[in-house]
Amino acid sequence: MFLTGKRALVTGSTSGIGLAVARALAAEGAEVVLNGFGDADAIAALCAELGARHVPADLTTAEGAEALMAEAGPVDILVNNAGMQHVAPIEDFPVDKWNLVIALNLSSAFHTARLAVPHMKASGWGRIINTASAHSTTASPYKAAYVAAKHGLAGLTKVLALELAESGITANCISPGYVWTPLVENQIPDTMAARGMTREQVIKDVILERQPSKRFSQPEEVAALALFLCGDMAQNITGANYEIDGGWTAQ
Ligand code: NAD
Repeated sequence: MFLTGKRALVTGSTSGIGLAVARALAAEGAEVVLNGFGDADAIAALCAELGARHVPADLTTAEGAEALMAEAGPVDILVNNAGMQHVAPIEDFPVDKWNLVIALNLSSAFHTARLAVPHMKASGWGRIINTASAHSTTASPYKAAYVAAKHGLAGLTKVLALELAESGITANCISPGYVWTPLVENQIPDTMAARGMTREQVIKDVILERQPSKRFSQPEEVAALALFLCGDMAQNITGANYEIDGGWTAQ
C-alpha cells in the first residue's frame, strides 16, 4: 500500500482508462477523487467500492476545473485523463466541437496542473500523469482537434517536467494506441460515415490497421504503468511520453 496518505485526483474516471487508473491507485491505498459523468447509481457504487469521492465538474471550462480543484482539495497525484473525440473532415469540422475537444483534452490539464502544483511544491512530492495518445506524436485524418490537443498535451507535459524538475514532482505522458473503451466504440459510427465503411471494416481496416499487434490494449494495462510512475523507482522519470500502442508509433 505504497500510496497510503496520498490523495489522487483522476479526471474522467467514471469510465474506461480513468476508472482503471483510479482502481489501481485506490488498491495501493490512495484516497481517490473521481471525476466525470455517468449514471448516478453506478457512480455511487464506484465510490463505495473505492472509498472515493466523486466531483462531477465539467472540465470544458476553466470554471469547471477550478471548481473541481477546490472541491477535491490539495492533491498529491494528478491524472489528467478526461478526453473526448470528434471525427470529421476539416472542411466540415464543427467549430463548437473543435473548441470542446481542445478545452477538455488540453486546456483542462493546464488548469488542473496550475492549481495542483502549489501544494505539490510545498510538500516536495507530486506526480502528474497525462493520458495523451499515439496521436500526441502521430496524426490520422479527420481528427484535427484531437491530434492538435494531444500534441499540445505532450508539449505541456515537457514544460511541467522542466519547471518542476527540482521540486520532487514528475510530469509524464502515457500514450495509448487503441484501448477498448466507450471512447473508441463511440467514434465508430462517425468513422463509418466519414469513410463510407461498415462497422467491421472500421475496426479491422482503420482501427487495428494502425496497431501492429492487432489487439486492443486493456485499460488495466494503462493503469499498471500509471501506478509505476507513482512509485519511488520512477522519481527520476520526468518529461517522458510512454507509448502503449502495440507498435503503432514504431512504424
Ligand atoms: P471514456 O469515454 O471511457 O472515458 C472518458 C471519461 O471522461 C469519462 O469518465 C467521462 O465521463 C469523462 N468526461 C467526458 N467529458 C467530460 C467533461 N466535459 N468533463 C469531465 N469529464 C468528462 O474514454 P477513455 O477511452 O477511457 O479515454 C480516457 C483518455 O484516454 C482520454 O483522454 C482519451 O483521449 C485517451 N485515450 C484513449 C484511447 C482509447 O483507445 N480508448 C487511446 C488513446 C488515448
